[in-house]
Amino acid sequence: MPETIHCPFCGETSELDLDATVSRQQFITDCEFCCRPFEVRVTCEGGEIISVEIAGT
Ligand SMILES: [Zn+2]
Repeated sequence: MPETIHCPFCGETSELDLDATVSRQQFITDCEFCCRPFEVRVTCEGGEIISVEIAGT
C-alpha cells in the first residue's frame, strides 16, 4: 500500500509502496530528489501499517 514519507535530508516527500502483510521490514532506499540513502523501518499489524520510521544513514 502506498505510504508517503519525508526524506530526512532534503525534506521532499515521496511515496513508497509497502507490503503491509510483512510485520517488520527494514530496508535502505535512495531519495529520488537528492539521491541520498536512508533507512526505512516499517511495522505492520493485521495488514495495516502501524509505524514508519525514517533514519538517515
Ligand atoms: Zn532527499
